[in-house]
Amino acid sequence: MRVAVCVKQIPDPASPYDLDPDTHFVVRPTDQVLDDTDRYGVEMGLQLAEQTEGTVTLVSMGPSGNLQGIRQALAMGADKAVIIDDGTLQGSDSLATAGILAAAIQREGFDLVIAGTESTDGYAGILPQQLAEFLGVPALTFAKKVSVEGDTVRIERQTQTGYDEVEAPVPALVSVTAGVVEPRYPTFKGIMQAKSKPVETLTAGDLGVEVTTKQKIIAIRPAPERASGELIEDDGEAHLKIVALLEQAKVI
Ligand SMILES: Cc1cc2nc3c(=O)[nH]c(=O)nc-3n(C[C@H](O)[C@H](O)[C@H](O)COP(=O)(O)OP(=O)(O)OC[C@H]3O[C@@H](n4cnc5c(N)ncnc54)[C@H](O)[C@@H]3O)c2cc1C
Repeated sequence: MRVAVCVKQIPDPASPYDLDPDTHFVVRPTDQVLDDTDRYGVEMGLQLAEQTEGTVTLVSMGPSGNLQGIRQALAMGADKAVIIDDGTLQGSDSLATAGILAAAIQREGFDLVIAGTESTDGYAGILPQQLAEFLGVPALTFAKKVSVEGDTVRIERQTQTGYDEVEAPVPALVSVTAGVVEPRYPTFKGIMQAKSKPVETLTAGDLGVEVTTKQKIIAIRPAPERASGELIEDDGEAHLKIVALLEQAKVI
């Protein structure tokens, strides 16, 4: 089975980052890490490829930098990576990004596409569904368990109260939640091998795709500081005031 795994390189969440004052985009450092969300997708892809004697191709769009994040995923065991790094794509919204990723995935050929549910920096949470639409395949989303049997992919789809069992014929796309599998740590051998694995860098022109981004960031404001809570002194009636407040907040 040919598995394509979407992976995003993001600024290290543990380090402070800057926003460009004009465009409001994140100033992307050379050192970027693999989005933690996508480690689950990579692990899932590797397990399915191992079961079916298949391959795992990483697909990513964004500034490649020193490829640190991509190498992390290759060190886990992925076979190769395709990265679309094109300055003209800066500011792309989810739909434009999905269009580009779809063109790259179609060019590679695939049986199954795996993506995270929501990236750690962008948080849009809609790219996988858009990507499936561009590829013309079913989207099985919020998977907390994935299995493949013959030409059928089955997932347990996380819901608020439990899970639904969903299946579809391949080719298909699956978006996975954190916890779908336990991502492996790269071994020393894996880290060394990752240095010589193929990484292809493409532009939108190479894919013959023209993208239009309709979304524009017009302003950014800091989130409001958390207001201090209300202090209720116990005069013997405090419990009544607390119950009234909880009722007002519709908590009870
Ligand atoms: C030059 C350039 C600069 C960019 N700068 C930024 C930036 O500052 N901030 C930003 O958030 N994005 C940036 N991007 C990437 C792109 O705009 C976003 O990836 C896109 O808008 C998706 O948003 P999201 O991460 O919220 O998607 P979500 O829908 O939250 O992502 C869900 C899943 O989709 C997959 N996915 C999402 N984006 C990508 C991707 N780019 N490549 C591979 N898989 C992906 C991952 O598996 C992810 O877990 C840049 C791209 C380029 C080319």
